[in-house]
Amino acid sequence: MLLTDREAKTGEQFLPPSNPETVLSPNQQLFPLTATVNEQDCLEIGGCDVTALVQQFGSPLYILDETTLRTTCRQYRDAFTKYYPGASQVIYASKAWSCMAVVSAIASEGLGFDVVSGGELYTTITALEKSGFSEREISEKIYFHGNNKSLAELELAVEAQCQIIVDNWLELETLATYAAYRKQVVPIVIRLTPGIECHTHEYIRTGHLDSKFGFDPNQLDAVFTFISEQKFLNCLGLHAHIGSQIFELQPHQDLGGVLADWFKKALDYGLPMEALNVGGGLGICYTEADDPPTIEEWVKTVAKAVKTACEQRHLPLPKLIAEPGRSLIGSAGITAYTVGSRKVIPELRTYIAVDGGMSDNPRPITYQSIYQAVIANKMRTPAQEKVTIAGKHCESGDILVKDLDLPETSLGDILVVVGTGAYNYSMASNYNRLPRPAAVLVSDGEANLIIRRETYEDLIRQDLLPERLVENA
Ligand SMILES: *Cc1c(COP(=O)(O)O)cnc(C)c1O
Repeated sequence: MLLTDREAKTGEQFLPPSNPETVLSPNQQLFPLTATVNEQDCLEIGGCDVTALVQQFGSPLYILDETTLRTTCRQYRDAFTKYYPGASQVIYASKAWSCMAVVSAIASEGLGFDVVSGGELYTTITALEKSGFSEREISEKIYFHGNNKSLAELELAVEAQCQIIVDNWLELETLATYAAYRKQVVPIVIRLTPGIECHTHEYIRTGHLDSKFGFDPNQLDAVFTFISEQKFLNCLGLHAHIGSQIFELQPHQDLGGVLADWFKKALDYGLPMEALNVGGGLGICYTEADDPPTIEEWVKTVAKAVKTACEQRHLPLPKLIAEPGRSLIGSAGITAYTVGSRKVIPELRTYIAVDGGMSDNPRPITYQSIYQAVIANKMRTPAQEKVTIAGKHCESGDILVKDLDLPETSLGDILVVVGTGAYNYSMASNYNRLPRPAAVLVSDGEANLIIRRETYEDLIRQDLLPERLVENA
């Protein structure tokens, strides 16, 4: 029996979907697509009983559903093929979750990658090499972002011959000098601030003019002039990204016109422009209250906007690039915790503490993000109490879910927070020296460890103890 978001309310009897054949947009689901409840009333993902996974791999545990991840990749790719008559490329914003297995799985679906640091670049290149991609395929798959790339990072990117998304003057001038020094033509893309407002948390808004990212549009004439004088810089495209967890389509539609205007300008400067990159930003369902468009609707909007804007300006159709992060992997992941202590404050609140918290999911404390959770071993038990799920860190703000309706919970129950595939593992820390959890990839009843649980030895691995601090040394 499949669980869709409408049926997944805690404490309600789960019903099979009225039409299991319906193609679901994973970003509109609370649970991964393969979620079912088995005979023991336990949640299964990818054919694996979540409580058994915790027994085998420990707690807390990140669980990633391969079917959901691959389905999402295909939906993005297929929608671009369907709605955009020109060339297109979907690249995964790997900051959402960068690790070898995730890179490998997504690459095998034909997607590329945006990376924003030397570390993400190194992870991606290594994973692609180990997965059998050629040097040339690797260079064509990777785009390097960042608003303050170091010289060492730029060298790594130039060495790998990936496209570099240039964010500012310092970077542009540094690259021009470095490319000339190496006598190597470096492919670049110019990131601009499109001046488009959208409704999302201010920390994840990037398209408005007061943003740290990209060139201000009033600089672009000077930028294009500078590039047209550089023998070793090949400016192949323009990029803009307006923000994250966006439910509206209008800002994405407006972006098409803004990019097309500058595309035309750049062509007038004689730059060999061939691509427009519209960024990512499509939202996902974290709770029943969230209502993002489907992946297909988003792609259709973006594709039509760029196509129409280019036609109106009599421009050749550029290669269209999009770089989804959250909507590509967010709904494919869940986190399982073990229920521990309980604090009852009569007539005020009941806290239930789990064995993780802000170190494995810093989004609630950072962005006031709201999550939904269930007790994985009591899936059909009706809700009986309203509780607040607290983490185990030394911060009062370390709350994972507030005012959640749950069945009566007891010590050792497995609590599952859904929608944790994006910006959880990648933002995890060792706060309070908690070892970071393991991650497993599940598919067809098989579970593979993709990230080992950190050990206490891992925690002190980088620590050094100067001799003079050691008495009697
Ligand atoms: C974060 C980011 C993305 C992905 O955003 P999502 O909202 O996760 O889809 C894409 N492009 C750039 C430049 C980003 O910084």
